[in-house]
Amino acid sequence: MAAVDYSGAPCIPKAALFARDDKAGMSQAQRVCWGWCPVRVACLEEALDQEAGLEASSRGGIRGGVGPAERARLDRATARMAELRAGAGEAVHA
Ligand code: SF4
Repeated sequence: MAAVDYSGAPCIPKAALFARDDKAGMSQAQRVCWGWCPVRVACLEEALDQEAGLEASSRGGIRGGVGPAERARLDRATARMAELRAGAGEAVHA
């Protein structure tokens, strides 16, 4: 995966907001991501890659406009899809 250029990311000047872990702060941070960030999708992809296999409690804050619990769900779904694809491949080639 190519390095993401975060130089124009709107979270940089709002570090205090993105460090908050209360519901109101996280919701406000999500609105920043979804409303103004030019690298939101790449940011989410990088977060999912870096946090693969972690529980929600081990994931920090909002990344890519998505909170820790939802990223953990996305990670599990992605892993499950990979398992299904691998299984389908085995069945086809068996
Ligand atoms: S999507 Fe990522 S880079 Fe963009 S504002 Fe949100 S946390 Fe920052």
